Amino acid sequence: MHTPEPPPHEQARQALLARTALLDTPPEAAFDRVVQLAAQLFGVPVALISLVDSERQWFKAKVGTDLCQTTRDISFCTHVVSQGNMLVVHNTLQDPRFADNPLVTGELAIRFYAGAPLRLDTHHVIGTLCLLDQRPRRFGPRQRARLQQLADTLCELIRQRMLLQQTERQSKLLLTINQAQSSFLLDRDLGAACSTILHSLLAMSQTTLGFIASCQVDDSDNCYLDIPSITHLDTTALQWLMPQLSHHHRSYRLYGFDHIYGHAIAEGEPLVINQPALYDDSGELAGIQSLLIIPCFFHLSVMGVLVLVNRAGGFDQEIVDHLTTLSDGIGNLLHVRGLELARQAAEAELARQATLDPLTGLLNRRAFLERCQQSQQRFSRYQQRFSLLILDLDHFKALNDQLGHPAGDYVLKEVSRQLRRTLREIDSLARWGGEEFCILLPQELEEDAIQLAQRLCHTLGQLPLQWHDELLHITASIGVATLNMAGETTENLIARADAAMYQAKAAGRNRAWLAMP
Ligand code: GH3
Ligand code: MG
Ligand code: MG
Repeated sequence: MHTPEPPPHEQARQALLARTALLDTPPEAAFDRVVQLAAQLFGVPVALISLVDSERQWFKAKVGTDLCQTTRDISFCTHVVSQGNMLVVHNTLQDPRFADNPLVTGELAIRFYAGAPLRLDTHHVIGTLCLLDQRPRRFGPRQRARLQQLADTLCELIRQRMLLQQTERQSKLLLTINQAQSSFLLDRDLGAACSTILHSLLAMSQTTLGFIASCQVDDSDNCYLDIPSITHLDTTALQWLMPQLSHHHRSYRLYGFDHIYGHAIAEGEPLVINQPALYDDSGELAGIQSLLIIPCFFHLSVMGVLVLVNRAGGFDQEIVDHLTTLSDGIGNLLHVRGLELARQAAEAELARQATLDPLTGLLNRRAFLERCQQSQQRFSRYQQRFSLLILDLDHFKALNDQLGHPAGDYVLKEVSRQLRRTLREIDSLARWGGEEFCILLPQELEEDAIQLAQRLCHTLGQLPLQWHDELLHITASIGVATLNMAGETTENLIARADAAMYQAKAAGRNRAWLAMP
């Protein structure tokens, strides 16, 4: 018995066969009709549609036998696949290639065989339409031609079926992308949205591994790819990528753009690599058999990339075209996400601005009262006391009147800076209004608070203030109050500090005064 070598491009041929999605599927009327027609037309008892897989031939349709499959090595059809031509064996017993074949010597007792190649594209034969008989037969040129015609019609049927399935998969995928976009708008979860899309894309393209990444810039202006969704961290196929990734709150980051993914983004064109060995690289493709990188656009800007790794038989132009069309959906999604991030950042900045005094950058009155509220709660729960200082600049009106408002503003800013420098991180400092400041000292008792207030008076008195040619001198009066009884309101505490501040003024200014409990 003779078993031929597999044809050239055997791997791609098997990938194509897998893509037909015919193997191990239930019988279908259209295919059954073809074998019935063939059996009638040529007057043979057995007709088969045989698909030659890596280790077996499997019958998509059959008439005249119950056999579902045989091993490849004894299959007649594997000869057709290897040669790429029709094979006719008039009498198997007289053919040394088949005389001792189990299909000839065994129960099936094949004496006659005619198999026409099912040629799906120029290079690849996926199987045969074949006729069998248990007695030798003649099979002339006209019969050969007819059998081939029938086989070609069958191929057309298979191509149509593939096209239909592809269209179905694509519309399903479009639907998935639409759903992912809608779900993102509802829950703002980019990882979930991208995972949904990615899994559909992988199923559609029969790829096992991939990720979606968006182009981002961090706070220090460094570019990176943000990877919200990756199928799994396959350490073999992604052995270059793995150590480069840093993990950041529900996504991965790949810094810099000087790598193959960055190059595809810069080019703005899909990049297909089916033979990584030929690609001159720096180890980025180690472990990868085939790679497809598709930039995802919003209008003319690349928003990110879709990366698919290791597709059986590699990525052909057809799949690249299909995925390129769909990648716009991903580009849109990444764009919407960019808008959302910008909106969140603007909102956060607005919220921050709303707590600050515009001239000095210190907390404003509202934010300060909130801090007081928090301290008040800590006092109720843990008896943590705190002190409050009200600081008012002395004779500030005179300074304003003599030198003008800009000079007054300058002094207010310098005083603010100096106070900030002197106080601790945990102290809260606010501009209460005009030339008045408020200071909250957590965990400070009277003695410490008054000491600090005196130090502030001293520091401000020494502050070098140069306004054009004038050397300015400023002093402040400070009222100090410490919360020491349960039930005292913030308003009351402030009123006591305020009263103490006026007593400091009355006692001659440039001093600190402790409020009555
Ligand atoms: P005292 O020692 O009793 O505190 O006298 P004073 O002049 O500091 O007190 P008064 O409250 O009469 O004056 C406060 C002045 O602060 C009035 C106003 O012109 C000035 N002022 C309030 N807000 C600003 C501001 O934002 N910029 C400037 N330049 N001046 C301000
Ligand atoms: Mg005042
Ligand atoms: Mg004043």
